[in-house]
Amino acid sequence: MRIIDAHLHCSGREDSASVLRALDEAGIERGVLLAPFLSPGHALGDAASLRRANAHLARLVRGYEDRLTGFAVVDPRDDHAAQDLRHAVEGLGLRGVKMVPTGWYPFEERARGVYEVASSLSLPVLFHSGIFIDGRSGRFCRPVYCEALRDHPGTRVALAHMGWPWTDEALAVALIDRIHEVPPERAQFRLDISFGPPPPYRREVLARMLEVLGPGALQFGSDCFLPCSGAHLRERRDWVQALMDELGLSAPAREQIWWGTAAAWLGIEAAPAAEPARRGGPLGMEEDGPPCDTPRQAAWESGAPALEAPEPEAPGLGQRLRQGRSGWGWMPRCC
Ligand SMILES: [Zn+2]
Repeated sequence: MRIIDAHLHCSGREDSASVLRALDEAGIERGVLLAPFLSPGHALGDAASLRRANAHLARLVRGYEDRLTGFAVVDPRDDHAAQDLRHAVEGLGLRGVKMVPTGWYPFEERARGVYEVASSLSLPVLFHSGIFIDGRSGRFCRPVYCEALRDHPGTRVALAHMGWPWTDEALAVALIDRIHEVPPERAQFRLDISFGPPPPYRREVLARMLEVLGPGALQFGSDCFLPCSGAHLRERRDWVQALMDELGLSAPAREQIWWGTAAAWLGIEAAPAAEPARRGGPLGMEEDGPPCDTPRQAAWESGAPALEAPEPEAPGLGQRLRQGRSGWGWMPRCC
């Protein structure tokens, strides 16, 4: 099974060998690494530190481009952010950009220069969306604000965390391309399923996303912070695996979430979205029901819920996680 981890944070303390070792231990073929911006010495509001961060990441991934994809971080509050992004890609060899709206809204004019560079270079863009869990205000991070990216159609945007708690809003943003029958691999928006939603929400949210958008709009991301062990990555992977099992996802749907959606996003290969499998169904669920051609049809035209997720015989994932953990320690650290 091929797996892309589409959301991995660097801290500045990792090296290439330890990152590759952790990926190997977790059975992950490729990692999308984000330049450090939350670790000591690096901060979003400090453009010089972000330039150092991007340079660090470029050194980290150089020579390992078959396993590691480096995403620059820029902050559009800095007047040189667009130039910095262009340099990070054309000069340093990074392949995408992570944007974290904090202190600025994604629809603001001052962000347009960054979007224009990203669009002209056809970059994948990972946008933080949803609440912050470190206490910063999430008011800048509603998914609908990222509609501004539609004015820059060369970008390929992934909204992190499914926008939780604004998951319906994130779904709606991603749905527009589906309504217009844009194939998932060419859609401007997809969602990374890094959590995001606390355990009691996860099954419901993922099921809804699959029901309406299909697996071609969803991609795996651990949201782990490097350096970390392979076991830590594996744990995040197992959370998703358990949810897939609970929801009875078909093999093609799983493959899409583990690999296909992110591969298309990164431009690694022209990976057509997994045709929803009967037994596999249009939504990727192993279920019986009337055949449908697209998630759009299933969700909008059948008039009936297309998903009847099987009731778990054992305690649900949320309950199991709650039993094994206390407090909020299971939550990813940030964005
Ligand atoms: Zn993150």
